[in-house]
Amino acid sequence: MILEKIKKVFNISESQVCEILRKQDHKCPICEKPISLDDCHIEHQHDTNRLRGFTCPRCNVSYIRGLNQSVIDNLYKYIKNPPAF
Ligand SMILES: [Zn+2]
Repeated sequence: MILEKIKKVFNISESQVCEILRKQDHKCPICEKPISLDDCHIEHQHDTNRLRGFTCPRCNVSYIRGLNQSVIDNLYKYIKNPPAF
C-alpha cells in the first residue's frame, strides 16, 4: 500500500501525510488537478530524500512540457514552499 511505503521511506506518520494532502487541497500543486494517494507521485528532493509533497504523475515527468505562466507560477510557489516542509 502506498501509504505504508510513504511512511517507511520518508519516516512520517499517516496524519502528516493527510496534513500534506490537506495543505495541497488534494490537488496537484503544479496543474491543480485533483489527486489521491492511489493516483499521485511521491515528489521528493533527490539530494536529501526529503518529501516535498504529492504531484500528479504527469507533472512529475513533464514539468517542462507545455509550460505556461500559470504552471510556471505554481511550480515556483511549490518549490519555494513545499507543503511538507
Ligand atoms: Zn499535475
